[in-house]
Amino acid sequence: MRGIVILGAGYGGLAAALELDRHGIPFTLINREPYHTFKTLLHEVAGARHDPHTYALSLADLFHRETSEVVVAEVNAVRLSDKLVETNRGAISYGTLVVALGSRTATFGLSGVAEHAFRLDSLRAAMELHHHVERELERYRQTGDPVHLNVLVAGGGLTGVELMGEWADWLPKRARDLGLPVHDLHLGLIHAHAEILPDVDHQLRAVAQAKLSERGVELILNERVAGAEPGAFILGSGRKLEAGTLVWTGGVEAPALLQEAGLPVDNRNRVDVDEFLMAKGVPDVYVIGDCARFTAAHGTPLPPTGQVAEQMGHHLGANLVRSAHGRPPLPFVYHDHGMVASLGPRYGVAEIGTHHATGATALVLKDGSKMKYLMHLGGPVTLLKRYRQWLEI
Ligand SMILES: Cc1cc2nc3c(=O)[nH]c(=O)nc-3n(C[C@H](O)[C@H](O)[C@H](O)COP(=O)(O)OP(=O)(O)OC[C@H]3O[C@@H](n4cnc5c(N)ncnc54)[C@H](O)[C@@H]3O)c2cc1C
Repeated sequence: MRGIVILGAGYGGLAAALELDRHGIPFTLINREPYHTFKTLLHEVAGARHDPHTYALSLADLFHRETSEVVVAEVNAVRLSDKLVETNRGAISYGTLVVALGSRTATFGLSGVAEHAFRLDSLRAAMELHHHVERELERYRQTGDPVHLNVLVAGGGLTGVELMGEWADWLPKRARDLGLPVHDLHLGLIHAHAEILPDVDHQLRAVAQAKLSERGVELILNERVAGAEPGAFILGSGRKLEAGTLVWTGGVEAPALLQEAGLPVDNRNRVDVDEFLMAKGVPDVYVIGDCARFTAAHGTPLPPTGQVAEQMGHHLGANLVRSAHGRPPLPFVYHDHGMVASLGPRYGVAEIGTHHATGATALVLKDGSKMKYLMHLGGPVTLLKRYRQWLEI
């Protein structure tokens, strides 16, 4: 019998799989890697906060029942007419499909950006970025050329800001440890608008900007990146900014295979879904997380965040359990639990409803949400094991 197949073990896919697993409903979970990545914490990997392996959680450790199957494979295509998923390990048929393949960095056709700038959208990318910065520090030591101590991040959204916050803390320490002159270090954050962090309140943006500036980050505001060449971003104003490290965090898009499958997508390959998270006009295919374009009545589409993906995954998983018991599905309702942006390991800004928090208080909230997530994934054992590693006890 054709069963439930879930594509992607990120925040959305994993939440749906765990819900089914708890109720003993059979499913097949297909993921590129044998682990779940804590993607919302990748800036910590780039800043060497902890061992990179602690940002991955083995899928084999999460699913033990005979009713759950984990397939480590690359999904290459979805054939809707045949109800088949093509992978590098063969074709897998489905009765119900859950698409939760996340997103990757979008460069919007900007010349040279994909080739010459790093991105921060997978554990591997975060580790490559970290190693590159270490190599640049070494090159500076060998050549004395200050360009190797120049670091530019383009994009003042959550990803770019959390990365810059992490580096503003780690890089001066690392340079000092290597005996390099910290005053030659230059960190620049390029953003197209007058204020960074568009998803938080104006007051918190100002706090975040002041904190980054205080720690030596140059905020290059109201400047768009027009392209990149080896070792330089070219701005719309014509300025050329040279740096040994270029990072692009200017936006994300869902995988092209969704459009190629014939699903109803927008200009970022996100699939239009209805109130039950089903792809519009495509029965038996559900889409969640960064791959989905969900618009509540009179609202704007939900943003691509881990929080949205996780809630969609839980909801869809619960609906599939209901359906297995012959009960009708419930419509998805999103509950905004607020947003916390870390600016390194010691400072953050948080917006929970109308409440604001800054500094260590914001980080306590972030730690709370990390703990809650770990507890939900694997219970107290996973929570304690991982938290000990992160606390380096
Ligand atoms: C540095 C950074 C910080 C962030 N901070 C926050 C934050 O503080 N709060 C927040 O809510 N959100 C944050 N986000 C956004 C959040 O990480 C994403 O919105 C979230 O991961 C989306 O979940 P998802 O389940 O849709 O996809 P993902 O978590 O990306 O999971 C997709 C899964 O599918 C797999 N996959 C993809 N393509 C294939 C394929 N072809 N074949 C097989 N497997 C495949 C991937 O390997 C992955 O396991 C941050 C993102 C970044 C990069």
